[in-house]
Amino acid sequence: MAGAAEVTQTEGTNSAQDALKEAISASALGVLREVFGYPHFRGLQQDVVEHVSGGGDALVLMPTGGGKSLCYQVPAIVRQNAGLGTTVVVSPLIALMHDQVGALREAGVSADFLNSTLDSAQTQAVEAALRRGEVTLLYVAPERLLTPRLLALLDFLHERGELALFAIDEAHCVSQWGHDFRPEYRGLAELIGRYSGVPRVALTATADALTREDIVERLGLEQARRFVASFDRPNIHYTIVEKNDPTRQLLRFITQEHAGESGIVYAQSRRRVDELAETLRAHGLPALAYHAGMDASQRQKHQDRFLREEGLVMVATIAFGMGIDKPDVRFVAHIDAPKNIEGYYQETGRAGRDGAPAHAWMAYGLQDVVQQRRMIDDSPAQDAFKQVLRDKLDALLALAETMGCRRVRLLQYFGETPPGGPAWRCGHCDNCTDPPVPWDASEAARKLISCMLRVHQASGLAFGAGHLIDILRGQAGPKVLQHGHERLSTFGIGADLSEVQWRSVLRQLVAIDAVQVSPGEFRTLEPGPAARAVLRGETSVVLRAAQAAPAGHQPGARGGRSARGRPGTRAPQAGKPEDLALDAEAQVRLAALKHWRAEVARAHQLPAFVIFHDSTLRALAAQAPQHLEGLSSISGIGQRKLDAYGPDLLAVMAGRAPEGSA
Ligand code: ADP
Ligand code: ZN
Repeated sequence: MAGAAEVTQTEGTNSAQDALKEAISASALGVLREVFGYPHFRGLQQDVVEHVSGGGDALVLMPTGGGKSLCYQVPAIVRQNAGLGTTVVVSPLIALMHDQVGALREAGVSADFLNSTLDSAQTQAVEAALRRGEVTLLYVAPERLLTPRLLALLDFLHERGELALFAIDEAHCVSQWGHDFRPEYRGLAELIGRYSGVPRVALTATADALTREDIVERLGLEQARRFVASFDRPNIHYTIVEKNDPTRQLLRFITQEHAGESGIVYAQSRRRVDELAETLRAHGLPALAYHAGMDASQRQKHQDRFLREEGLVMVATIAFGMGIDKPDVRFVAHIDAPKNIEGYYQETGRAGRDGAPAHAWMAYGLQDVVQQRRMIDDSPAQDAFKQVLRDKLDALLALAETMGCRRVRLLQYFGETPPGGPAWRCGHCDNCTDPPVPWDASEAARKLISCMLRVHQASGLAFGAGHLIDILRGQAGPKVLQHGHERLSTFGIGADLSEVQWRSVLRQLVAIDAVQVSPGEFRTLEPGPAARAVLRGETSVVLRAAQAAPAGHQPGARGGRSARGRPGTRAPQAGKPEDLALDAEAQVRLAALKHWRAEVARAHQLPAFVIFHDSTLRALAAQAPQHLEGLSSISGIGQRKLDAYGPDLLAVMAGRAPEGSA
């Protein structure tokens, strides 16, 4: 009966039902425009909002930046306006509740949170407001929700018919299969029995089928309608470069393409995070570190600064990121390859939530393959589990090595058919804008494996990549001479290829198991199970020719598609393209507006983007409206913000001092 809910929803033959649906639809759009100041719903938002506002259960799968929050915030307001009471939002992210509630209040919505950061007087005040029916959205952590005290309060609201909706954010936390299982989420099942009749909406950005079914089962959503958005993030430009001098490549990427912009750099280990942050700072970049080895208060401080200040670079392990809803992260860089595509997609997804152009950049090399393989082999996990990890790593390697469109690979991995089929070219990834030239490396691969065998026969030892490449290229360094390897028949047979080219041959061979990393302390290499097939010419090895353009070069523009249907979404260029598009006067206005926004944000103890998004300020600077009516047509200015900030905005744009209504 999975489709039951859908059928009753779409077959609106009953005219009373039609009228109701129409009223809900109008009211939802009204809320979007008046409260949030946005002219249109995005993607599936409208369907979700109408379904949930009308009291339907829903499971919502949308990528990061897809706009999940509005999927429950708008229904919460619609239902409160209809006298149905409070919406309870369950979220694991206590550290972010303050900002989430702050953002709603800025828009004039009555919102509160209950968590351990409140003292008892504050808690009592929120509880009293709840009893009086004054709270439209209440944010709580799951462990809090299940306390007898809060349950009693919810019982009270429920009896009076004032419990409008449960929204369960980050719903994958309920599943053991998700990457972020939280045992507290298991307790949520209790709500289902206890508050029957109260609609539920569960939301997540985690795509995989196993997790999805787990959520449905755990949260009793069998009858819920499912909304699955495309996982494509059209405004993100994907680039994967060969790693040769990673720190320098990263520096060049940031300074040439994203100077002054906010971004995240992911690295594998804590030590590397610390070192890299240090190096970036030494080069004049405002970089902060974040990893689980730091003490909690320091970590929190860095997270707060990243959210509140503009243009910071967060260098972090994967411990950083869940729930970071900063909309204007312009780039996410991986200096080490992640473990799998799920991780890659999730981490890169933190770029460009505002729909403006953003960049996912990764440097990937032989070391990554070797290290990740080793980590899996050395882990104490069971063989079957290790095999799953290996397969997932292989899929990531295939993404890195592919000569086809990166976006196609990503979408296919998540079970989606790309808009133009498997041969589609998105026009907005490195392989599309600058197609690599295929190079048949089968001959080189044979040379490499023979060389490896000769070396082993001659000295009974296995060696690392550097040594093998020296022999192939005929470089008689001290180590080669020490072992007499200059006398091997394979000495110098690969002088026609550069070291970088040899490394990519080797990397590919490791990826296809023709070469394996030997167990033990030294990362020596030996022929793997697939070596024979390569030697016999049964497996051909086709590589990307080393790119002509330097790594981290400028990506081209993406034709056709654009985020939010906005024309001219461009790939990031040096500096800030969007600012550069403004004329000189507009740029002065933009600078003044940003300055004003920073002051207001500080006074309200909120991140600047909560006051206004960059895109809103840019539109203001470009159009420079002279009157309040002109302001309200700009996306992101709802009624409340118009009242609160309108006169100030006009003053700031005219070069006058604001009246200080903030
Ligand atoms: P998610 O939780 O799915 O990652 P959010 O709810 O944080 O996404 O939304 C991402 C950004 O997009 C937010 O800054 C939000 O204000 C903005 N946004 C969402 N829906 C719309 C819309 N219909 N029009 C304009 N901006 C929107
Ligand atoms: Zn592409």
